[in-house]
Amino acid sequence: MLNKNNIQPTNWKLSKSTFLKGNQCVKALYLNKHHWNEGTPPTAEQQELFNRGRKFEAKFRSEFFGQQVDITKVLGKNFKYYKGYTEEYLIKHDKGILFEATFIEDEVMVMVDVLKKNQNNSYDIFEVKLHTELTQVVWEDLAIQNYVLQKALGDKINSFHIVYRSSEGEYIIREVREELKNLELNISELLENYKSILQQKEIPDKEMGAQCESPYPCNFREFCSQF
Ligand code: SF4
Repeated sequence: MLNKNNIQPTNWKLSKSTFLKGNQCVKALYLNKHHWNEGTPPTAEQQELFNRGRKFEAKFRSEFFGQQVDITKVLGKNFKYYKGYTEEYLIKHDKGILFEATFIEDEVMVMVDVLKKNQNNSYDIFEVKLHTELTQVVWEDLAIQNYVLQKALGDKINSFHIVYRSSEGEYIIREVREELKNLELNISELLENYKSILQQKEIPDKEMGAQCESPYPCNFREFCSQF
């Protein structure tokens, strides 16, 4: 049994979701960090979609994996301890299944839906999405995870899967490492840019446009439309 009191906290500058926010709009990235209270809360429809996603993920986890540890149930909202907990768990267990295993590299934090450690010290990774097709934003989501996980686990990664939904509601489980290699996305350059934007004193100048609605309706539309 791990002793939570021995785990060290870790900080980060960007997460998977803030990376995706930056890809949508650097102003949204900045506002989310420095003026988050100007954002509007999710609509009932958005909340419902989020809840459906959580249920889909929970069902996949319970159908495909038996004994496991869900870090959210151990640590709650103490996110700065997630990485330390993950490290301790992986050191102390020859094999096992972790939900929300957390890694931080280049000051970017990602949380893995399902991480399976095998007896031979290799890892299988599963990211679960309610989507029925793999859109650009899903690929960007997978790419930032892969970037961090490659640095953290390297060639110990045995497989990296996206789990999504067929139109009949069945699970589609697809190995994506080869496809991710061919994705044209300069992640390290994007990360440096986003970190530097977050350090600015002024809100980045950005006109409203198509990016305010796609890939997701931005929660700062009311704020930006005042100017
Ligand atoms: S409303 Fe549009 S311009 Fe304003 S932060 Fe969001 S995406 Fe950027």
